[in-house]
Amino acid sequence: MRILVCGAGMAGLSAGINLGNAGHDITIVERAQHLRVNGSPIDIRGESLTVARQMGILDEIRARQVDMTARSCFVDGNGDRVADLPLAEINDTAYDTEIPREDLAHVLRNGLGPSVALRFGESVTELHDDGRGVDVLFVSGGQARYDLVVGADGLHSATRRLIFGPERRYLRHLGFYVALANLPHYRPTGAPNPIYNFPGHMAGVVAYRDVALAVLEFRSSWIEYDYHDLDAQKRVLTEEFGGHGRWRVPELLDAACRDPELYFDSVSQIDMPSWHRGRVVLVGDAAHCASPMSGRGTSLAITGTWLLAKALSDNADDLDAAMAQYERDQRPHVTHAQGTVGAGGDLLVPATQEAIDARNRALAHAG
Ligand SMILES: Cc1cc2nc3c(=O)[nH]c(=O)nc-3n(C[C@H](O)[C@H](O)[C@H](O)COP(=O)(O)OP(=O)(O)OC[C@H]3O[C@@H](n4cnc5c(N)ncnc54)[C@H](O)[C@@H]3O)c2cc1C
Repeated sequence: MRILVCGAGMAGLSAGINLGNAGHDITIVERAQHLRVNGSPIDIRGESLTVARQMGILDEIRARQVDMTARSCFVDGNGDRVADLPLAEINDTAYDTEIPREDLAHVLRNGLGPSVALRFGESVTELHDDGRGVDVLFVSGGQARYDLVVGADGLHSATRRLIFGPERRYLRHLGFYVALANLPHYRPTGAPNPIYNFPGHMAGVVAYRDVALAVLEFRSSWIEYDYHDLDAQKRVLTEEFGGHGRWRVPELLDAACRDPELYFDSVSQIDMPSWHRGRVVLVGDAAHCASPMSGRGTSLAITGTWLLAKALSDNADDLDAAMAQYERDQRPHVTHAQGTVGAGGDLLVPATQEAIDARNRALAHAG
């Protein structure tokens, strides 16, 4: 099949490997001018480790493993350690593998076979599915026809909007926003990664190897802003953190406001009754974002694209049957992942000073 994949994140690159290996002819279009490799290290968990082995990338993933989460602790306004992060509440299996996002992106990109073309600075503006193929109009003005279009364009998927309708139908905001920014001039010290709280807010540093990132997270109801507008994102962060001068909050906010690759988004889930319509199918966050709080979005992306490729191979002459199989096989992984986010927010971003103190007392007591 001639397949177009929209988005070259973890889901799009995994789709490129899995669908390419199955003998399909793949074009991946990525809106950005390069792979978006920033963000904190991410977990590969459970079933997706088995899939990664079958994709031939597990050894490379393991070779680039880091232990950032294991080295985190809560600090007070003076930077003094008050409690350790309770690892057992974050990782549910001894087999979780944590890998920097940029490393995984490069492992996946290197895994793309010769039948996969990757085009940057390109995205889709129109999709017309006539039942026998999908005519695509690109932002660049180009046109092409494909047998299948795979939307792997993340939480704010344009593919989903074009085929399934507005985002608000499917998005469930979990009441938090998160930002990650590069922290320049970092010198590794070996000290634990500090997490500081004030009511409804978290500021922290995640460091691994010679890289450090500022993390800012806060509780909020839905905020209307243009999520493509970096300045608007920085304004939101400044409103939330600009008035707080304790610990390293001003330094971390400054880093966020200076970073041209700032990652800022709502902590939300995508909940859809079905992930395909005709010859268009969604994978990864576009289909079923579980949110960073689940720590399972990348695992779902890897597993889902593997299951999609398998379903297409198992039902080579019946696209409807292939889509039904993909959804049936992937749905339990999604239900599990989306169901795991519960207590994470209360642990990392307590709503009140009383809740912060109670958490610290409980963890100190447990430790
Ligand atoms: C910059 C960035 C940083 C992240 N950092 C973290 C993190 O620190 N922790 C965490 O848990 N999760 C993070 N995530 C989310 C995490 O990567 C995903 O939950 C998970 O890997 C599933 O990936 P995905 O490919 O479905 O979505 P994403 O990783 O969001 O990838 C979607 C890709 O599609 C591209 N795209 C968007 N719209 C279009 C379009 N219209 N046409 C073409 N391409 C398009 C985007 O530029 C992006 O490359 C981050 C995502 C991004 C984009």
